[in-house]
Amino acid sequence: MYPCQEGTMKKYVGVPGMNSICKSLCQEDGVVSKFGVTIGKMDWLQHRSSWSLASLDGKDLGSFDFVVATDKNIASQKVSGLTGKPPPLDLSVFPHLSAMIQDIPVRPCFALMLAFSEPLAMVPVQGFSFHNFDSLSWAFCDSSKPGPHVPPNSQSWVLRSTTEYASKVIDSMGPRKPSADALAKVAEELFREFQGTGLNIPQPIFMKAHRWGGAFPAISIGGDDKCVWEKNMKLAICGDFCASPSVEGAVLSGMRGASKILGCLNLPSGL
Ligand SMILES: Cc1cc2nc3c(=O)[nH]c(=O)nc-3n(C[C@H](O)[C@H](O)[C@H](O)COP(=O)(O)OP(=O)(O)OC[C@H]3O[C@@H](n4cnc5c(N)ncnc54)[C@H](O)[C@@H]3O)c2cc1C
Repeated sequence: MYPCQEGTMKKYVGVPGMNSICKSLCQEDGVVSKFGVTIGKMDWLQHRSSWSLASLDGKDLGSFDFVVATDKNIASQKVSGLTGKPPPLDLSVFPHLSAMIQDIPVRPCFALMLAFSEPLAMVPVQGFSFHNFDSLSWAFCDSSKPGPHVPPNSQSWVLRSTTEYASKVIDSMGPRKPSADALAKVAEELFREFQGTGLNIPQPIFMKAHRWGGAFPAISIGGDDKCVWEKNMKLAICGDFCASPSVEGAVLSGMRGASKILGCLNLPSGL
């Protein structure tokens, strides 16, 4: 196991929670946010040089000069499997993008949330990775993030599984949403391996596994640009799958997409 020591590997988190980052961006001047709407269709209107967007249930959402798309499945048939409808972006209009964005391979993972009634006395670090373990890849002490802990003195940890373990489990349970029993079994297996480390891990007061079937993109398609930019159609495709599979990758990709748009508007990008 390799500790992430303060100073050697600095970690950044949103305060009080990860969603604070997006919440504060939504409050910037001129930003209008809409929630609970899935884009089902994006049509490029050549004569107007703009995009027409529609929701999954067919509602017209208006026209837009530029579009930034952040879904790695924007043009993938995987969308049809879930919605019964074609993916939002019709690749016959963008044949040159087909090879790039049609089907972005992903690495699945399971995450296990654990809470203990008191701090883990034998674990002196706030994060570490497991090497050559069957199911575990890393552990992070969630309570090391700034903010109050409820109940006080309790300690929460997040464990992440290896891709190999997650793939094996998902192959056996199929692509459908896992049952509570199946997730409980995963939780048990991951926790048992954690206990097997010899770190004297007590029984948790809370334990829950989550599946992230498409958690981490296995490739990055943005190259040096860190985004896919279609200047003629004023479309930026951004996200971790364009840069690196992390929040940092997603942010850098979004900033590059924004700078491309600002460049089109003859505004300084600041990058
Ligand atoms: C368990 C787990 C733990 C992780 N831990 C870390 C970590 O510790 N550090 C780290 O750096 N990274 C971590 N990551 C990775 C990080 O979460 C991602 O890299 C990052 O969120 C990617 O950002 P994104 O904007 O590219 O994509 P997303 O966060 O997936 O955002 C895409 C957005 O587009 C929306 N969307 C998609 N399709 C449509 C549509 N048709 N219409 C409207 N909206 C749509 C989605 O709802 C979503 O809000 C973790 C990921 C997982 C799963």
